[in-house]
Amino acid sequence: MSGHEKLSSSSCIKNGNPGCNHQDGSSRPLLEVRHLGYSYGETPALADINFTVHRHQITAIVGADGAGKTTLLKILGGLARKISGEIIFEGEAINTKPAWEVVQRGVVYVPEGMRVFPQMSVRENLEVGAYCNRSGMADRLEQVFQIFPELVDRTHFQAGLLSGGQQRMVTLGRGLMSGPVLLLLDEPFMGLSPKLVNRFCNSFRDLARSGITLLISGQHIRRVLKIAERAYILENGRITRSGVGVDLIEDQHLQDILFIS
Ligand code: ATP
Repeated sequence: MSGHEKLSSSSCIKNGNPGCNHQDGSSRPLLEVRHLGYSYGETPALADINFTVHRHQITAIVGADGAGKTTLLKILGGLARKISGEIIFEGEAINTKPAWEVVQRGVVYVPEGMRVFPQMSVRENLEVGAYCNRSGMADRLEQVFQIFPELVDRTHFQAGLLSGGQQRMVTLGRGLMSGPVLLLLDEPFMGLSPKLVNRFCNSFRDLARSGITLLISGQHIRRVLKIAERAYILENGRITRSGVGVDLIEDQHLQDILFIS
């Protein structure tokens, strides 16, 4: 176990993180990342990454430009292989599984800046999200409309004609249509107004309450940390700090490296 994981568990107890006391009685994390490393050719991007994600929580990965957030989320989503280390999801290693199987198991990656299919209707865009997992599609469509009621009256609209915020709802809805157990959201607030960021923060809390676990990366550090029960700071491809999200906002080191004071 790395020094970082020791730090994680002690801060978990100290801060009374609810992830340490699960309602289902299991203390096993939903996702365990062990000694993960990755290089682009000869250039290392991630080294000895160790962290856990607990069920029904919002976990955050924050860091500056180029810290490795996108690379990490892509790997978890099955989109980059040849890693070192292990990724354990629901007790099983998934790092050797093909991307389609990772999605089928419920690990769903929503990339930064994901676009709608502009010529297709809202409903068609959402249905595309269910291509790997069609059973229960009607229920999931219902869930998307509960989370984003703005889309209900627009199901037959051409998605490319929606506002930017509504298009983001469609792309997130597309992720939900895959039936995620763990939703990986890369920079979900990028380009949104402060009002819409608030709106999406509330939606993410609703999703977590509904039973979906979220791992969010982003440069909107304060926003992301405020909603995260647990957070990790990524610096030059390494995790250097962890703790409860709101506590990390006050962390002097984070303020120094990200200028968020
Ligand atoms: P940003 O928020 O700017 O996207 P990030 O934290 O998501 O940053 P990554 O995009 O994962 O960081 O990049 C991590 C490192 O890997 C950076 O040094 C980046 O230049 C490098 N990198 C990313 N993609 C590639 C690639 N396809 N080929 C080579 N190097 C890459």
